[in-house]
Amino acid sequence: MTATRVLVLNSGSSSVKYQLLDMGNGSRLAVGLVERIGEQTSRLVHTPLGTGGEKRERTGPIADHEAALRAVSEELSADGLGLDSPDLAAIGHRVVHGGSRFSEPTVVDDEVLAEIERLIPVAPLHNPANVTGIRTARALRPDLPQVAVFDTAFHTTMPESAARYAIDVETADTHRIRRYGFHGTSHAYVSRETAKLLGKAPEDINVIVLHLGNGASASAVAGGRCMDTSMGLTPLEGLVMGTRSGDIDPAVTFHLQRVAGMSTDEIDVLLNKKSGLVGLCGDNDMREIRRRIDAGDRSALLAFEIYIHRLKKYIGAYYAVLGRVDAVVFTAGVGENAAPVRAAAVAGLEELGLALDSARNEERSEGARIISTPYARVTVAVVPTDEELEIARQTFALIGGELPD
Ligand code: AMP
Repeated sequence: MTATRVLVLNSGSSSVKYQLLDMGNGSRLAVGLVERIGEQTSRLVHTPLGTGGEKRERTGPIADHEAALRAVSEELSADGLGLDSPDLAAIGHRVVHGGSRFSEPTVVDDEVLAEIERLIPVAPLHNPANVTGIRTARALRPDLPQVAVFDTAFHTTMPESAARYAIDVETADTHRIRRYGFHGTSHAYVSRETAKLLGKAPEDINVIVLHLGNGASASAVAGGRCMDTSMGLTPLEGLVMGTRSGDIDPAVTFHLQRVAGMSTDEIDVLLNKKSGLVGLCGDNDMREIRRRIDAGDRSALLAFEIYIHRLKKYIGAYYAVLGRVDAVVFTAGVGENAAPVRAAAVAGLEELGLALDSARNEERSEGARIISTPYARVTVAVVPTDEELEIARQTFALIGGELPD
């Protein structure tokens, strides 16, 4: 195969994030973002990489996703990297929900696109935008393979015991209610990179991955296969997040309806947008929360403690699910940058074989690194996630491209 470039598109309802990668050597050629699509104040920020080009910005109305992709193509063309280039091998699309069917990256045809649309009821916030992105890219380059890479795919290996809710089976099956999990591309990438860091094969290690960003999820990965993950039917379940509550007694929602007179939509907004760290202390940025704690702020401290308590519960639970753990790995914005979160999450877990080297934990670096003491039975590591690279890899591999090691 001579064409080695892959364009990765992450289409949101009013935004498109993109990266162009060369899979011949894994390098990034350009990254960018179009935001506020459909408004008068749309903005495109484009950064060419490796060509010496400067970051460029355009503002002004971009009517829809098609106009956005055309604008992206123009920016890429200015660097000789346009969508019409014969060097472009495929377009990889991040698709949030693949339901039970899509356990692998999939070349999109009409039938696959229709199935992604059928999943909209379980992913109303994400799949519609993903479908629009795929449609638009297909219209622009109908000859090119368009590959859907699903956030849920990595979790389809979960056993039924972890994936099913303990509710009436017929109701669950009729409405496709089960635990799907999200952030799968990140969990897949990070668990594999952890194996590299340990100098082992992914099949030979058990890992707990803690993806702590504004959204947050944990997963238990045994021999490269996901055994459990903290997000469920939607990304609301599990850890305390920036604005989401994570685990909560479902009866809280009945109570809010019956006693507080809230509507379903109001409760949805409360639990997804006004809860988690922001609900507890008014801030969802961990840097700001740490600054407030250092200044003696008690509500910020309580929010931090609740966040850590939940995280610890999941580390313990997934330790039990896996039986033997080789590594606990932190990733995403908080996991990669917030040393106090990592220190607090594993504090007191020496009996489980977890012990941090505090100097290593405080160090900052771009790459993957071990932060546990040399004598700890379980390695604790920071492994930066790279969902775009993983989408590009999976896309390129699916169309028969050969990846460098
Ligand atoms: P993500 O969703 O992975 O982009 O992560 C975003 C979150 O990472 C932000 O809301 C911050 O809470 C957190 N974050 C980013 N940088 C830092 C930092 N240096 N220290 C603590 N938290 C950080």
